[in-house]
Amino acid sequence: MDLINFIIYLTLWISGTVFGSFFTLAVHRIPKHQDITHERSYCPNCNHKLQFLDLIPVWSYIFLGGKCRYCKNKIRPRYLILEITSGLVFLLLGLWRNIGLNTSIHEFIIFAFDILFLCFGFISIGIFKETKKLPKGLIIYGVSVTTAKIIYSVVVHSIWS
Ligand SMILES: [Zn+2]
Repeated sequence: MDLINFIIYLTLWISGTVFGSFFTLAVHRIPKHQDITHERSYCPNCNHKLQFLDLIPVWSYIFLGGKCRYCKNKIRPRYLILEITSGLVFLLLGLWRNIGLNTSIHEFIIFAFDILFLCFGFISIGIFKETKKLPKGLIIYGVSVTTAKIIYSVVVHSIWS
């Protein structure tokens, strides 16, 4: 693997871990009808708002020794496992889709659809594990992403090939 590809896949892995920490937040907040995009993450034990450095996936967990910086409460290692797994899934998806410098815009769009669908997959599994049900909004999101991807594939296929 040359340097460019190494950088591309490292970036993919890091993006995956960032998505992974967003999934944890979404799984935690969606069933409680809390805002998932605007409000900063907080420690579920002491409710202290997390600072930028506390939010770096994987690294912050290792650096803080798996504890909240403010109340020293232990953070469950599954957050770390989820972030690493999510990073790996992004990496594998990139390899499978053969993402690189020669990737066409069309392939990138399909890849983006895959990522949007992965968000649905990860968050659904997480919420289902916690609550044994799926929120309606999430199902609508999953169906919309899939429909949009099919429409896009069919349209592009008939126009450009
Ligand atoms: Zn705390």
